Amino acid sequence: MPAATHAALFTRSFHKSFPVAVRGEGVWLWDKSGKRYLDLGGSAAVNFIGHGVREIGEAMAAQSARLEFVHSSQFVTEEAEAFAADVLEFAGKNFAGGAVYFTDGGSEAVETALKLARQYQVEIGQKPRFQILSRKQSYHGATLGALAVSGNLKRREIYLPMVREFEHVAMPYCYRCVYDCADGCYNCGLEYAAELERALDASQEAAGFIFEPVSGATLGAVTPPAGYLQRIAELCRARGVLLLADEVMTGFGRTGRNFACEHWNIAPDVLIVAKGIASGYVPLGAVIANARVVEALAAGGGVFTHGFTYNAHPVAVAGGAAVLKRLRAHKLVEAADSESGVAGQAMKENLARLRELPSVGDVRGIGLLWGVEFVKDKKSKQPFDAAMTYSAKVAARAAARGVMTYPMQGCVDGYRGDHLLLAPPAVITPEEVRWAVDELTAAIQEAV
Ligand code: PMP
Repeated sequence: MPAATHAALFTRSFHKSFPVAVRGEGVWLWDKSGKRYLDLGGSAAVNFIGHGVREIGEAMAAQSARLEFVHSSQFVTEEAEAFAADVLEFAGKNFAGGAVYFTDGGSEAVETALKLARQYQVEIGQKPRFQILSRKQSYHGATLGALAVSGNLKRREIYLPMVREFEHVAMPYCYRCVYDCADGCYNCGLEYAAELERALDASQEAAGFIFEPVSGATLGAVTPPAGYLQRIAELCRARGVLLLADEVMTGFGRTGRNFACEHWNIAPDVLIVAKGIASGYVPLGAVIANARVVEALAAGGGVFTHGFTYNAHPVAVAGGAAVLKRLRAHKLVEAADSESGVAGQAMKENLARLRELPSVGDVRGIGLLWGVEFVKDKKSKQPFDAAMTYSAKVAARAAARGVMTYPMQGCVDGYRGDHLLLAPPAVITPEEVRWAVDELTAAIQEAV
């Protein structure tokens, strides 16, 4: 057998060597060499309560010692029942009487929601409805179903022959609005909504519409214009199409509300969550379904034709429950609010400084979810050549300076356009934000 030219661990890139992480505390991570990094990206908008909180690990260890696992076809646990009730309450009155389906992460939660939307339609006698409409420039996960509804071109390209395609509509992206707008995109928001209306009317087979209320990785924290989401919600509701809000990145406080949909006062039928629900302490995701959806299944066939071995895993659920308790006790959702919270305000104010830099075209976001878009020319908004991998260069310079960020490419057309996603834990202090943004400023200048 020839000698391997690579390590035993199948990593994300064979070109890159990654630092070995050994410890975390608060907003800080340490590698094996002793170097310290401020986690300004929250890994990938995952950590919200801070690293190294002992009580989370202790809650999971206690659960594991008591009962590590039962299969959801045979048992429920009191821990899962209690956490589901807690999550429903956290999701607010729109989900009163609903139910929570726990998964192992975001992609599994998305798959679950897609199938739930389909089965809902079958249960209520709408058998022809099976399509899930979605938006271009979106991301919903790596599994084939989630990838089918994602709009992230680069991540989909080679797998396209393997996926079932439904209609993708454009989404409002004010910095690069395709409509001629002079009103903060209010009217263009409605133009984009009209695209969905046309797609819905053309099909008659739509079961659901999936969307990120604030665009996550693919566009980099693009917030919707006033009126847009409300219109989308009305259009779906009027046609019996389920509104599936993918809050994997935005849920559990990230935007300064329990769920981002609350900013725009819309009531989705299903919330899809992961990341923040357990802050990365354990792989966990969930689908939070409203009463209408759950009742349709309960009163219909009575069985959801779906299931993973690790549904509502007792140890994961114990971790999630401890994280939610911590998040409430330390008022972290409030801290994340970019209008009134300590951490959110500090991010908003400090990131505004980046706008002065020649290569920064746009700084956008809400709460503790921010995007910084880079351009070669500010006036024309021309992006850097993709081959320059500008955002990766900035991220590498920032990491060398001890600041971790989440670089992405493709915001302009799926291939061109560089941006960074910034989403630190809500325990970050204003001093830490100031220091990190100073270092990031230097990294951006060095990358040019
Ligand atoms: N939806 C959104 C909005 C996401 O940001 C992600 C992950 N970045 C996913 C779904 C998929 O989640 P996971 O990586 O946990 O499978």
